[in-house]
Amino acid sequence: MNKPVQAIDTHSVMFITKRPEVIMVEGKGSWITDNNGKRYLDFLQGWAVNCLGHSNLGIVSALNTQAKKLINSSPAFYNEPMIGLSNLLTGNSCFDKVFFASSGAEANEGAIKLARKWGQLNKNGAFEIITFDHSFHGRTLATMSASGKPGWDTMFAPQVPGFPKADLNDLESVKKLVTDKTVAVMIEPIQGEGGVIPATKEFMHALRKFTKENNILLIADEVQAGCGRTGTLFAYQHYGIEPDIMTLGKGIGGGVPLAALMATDAAACFVPGDQGGTYNGNPLMTAVGISVIEQLLAPGFLDSVKAKGELLKSELLKLSAEFNLEGERGEGLLRALMLGKDIGGKLVELARDQNPEGLLINSPRPNLLRFMPALNVSEDEIRKMANMLRELLKQTA
Ligand SMILES: *Cc1c(COP(=O)(O)O)cnc(C)c1O
Repeated sequence: MNKPVQAIDTHSVMFITKRPEVIMVEGKGSWITDNNGKRYLDFLQGWAVNCLGHSNLGIVSALNTQAKKLINSSPAFYNEPMIGLSNLLTGNSCFDKVFFASSGAEANEGAIKLARKWGQLNKNGAFEIITFDHSFHGRTLATMSASGKPGWDTMFAPQVPGFPKADLNDLESVKKLVTDKTVAVMIEPIQGEGGVIPATKEFMHALRKFTKENNILLIADEVQAGCGRTGTLFAYQHYGIEPDIMTLGKGIGGGVPLAALMATDAAACFVPGDQGGTYNGNPLMTAVGISVIEQLLAPGFLDSVKAKGELLKSELLKLSAEFNLEGERGEGLLRALMLGKDIGGKLVELARDQNPEGLLINSPRPNLLRFMPALNVSEDEIRKMANMLRELLKQTA
């Protein structure tokens, strides 16, 4: 597989993003290796997807065992892992029902449909879902319309209507948008793509109280912040509130395409014909989901995520002090370093391209870096990442 760099022929790969001229060939834990044998310390992990690192043994074993047994029964039948994972998720959350999908966007589409259906049944056809400026909910037409990403309102116009945008942590801005057509508010407990911006405790409490009093559903998009990422199994648990609907993606599959739409009994109003999808509840994927959730729930694991989050935080704060940056923010192992200037993109490239070992981080906004390592990253790897970043910051200072 050791092709020289210039021999990589990518002409048939649809060009949807600029990629470096290397091919990733294998991974183990927090490290990924390219076709030249160069290793990268991976603090991206497929955008917070590989929550247990590369080639996690539990996941590999779940895949092997299930692949030999039953890869796909068809969504017309129950299968064992589908039931097992549903029970595991409802048994460890405030939700009663689960529908599995293959991507976060698809789970959010399901949440949007569920809320609209609930509005038809309970609120005279109310269908508007208030979302937030700078939010990210996916790349289907409806979820792009729900997202508050600058420029996305015109990109594939016309948008799907019914997603007015409020300001995060500003209840008045939510209240102003409420009409008799409002059926739900959809929120990321921590805006991930928006730059790791947490909703405050006060805001979440006030929002939950307000939505309850006004018969409005609260939808938590935990595609990025859920599944142990913040140090609790689900991010809403930090706030002491209970949403009506939640979506999961990314981490729940530990690297395979799996997502979930969860709802309380009161909100779960789909009837046969409303929702489906060829891969929903696929046993191969849900078997992996069981391994992931069981590993997250192993005694001490989530506490170790919290502890490692604190270590990452303190390392980032040291860098901030040393280089006169603007601090850090986030929860658990979803954190951002505020750079104070627009050098994020440059640092990402320098970090990746340095030798002999690269570092993978990302910059969802030009003035910050985001870190979403495997939840089982070691303390040494966190310190090593900080030291690699320290050298880069020296170079760019
Ligand atoms: C990544 C993400 C999505 C979209 O998930 P896909 O699997 O890419 O469709 C939705 N919401 C949030 C908060 C995300 O971070």
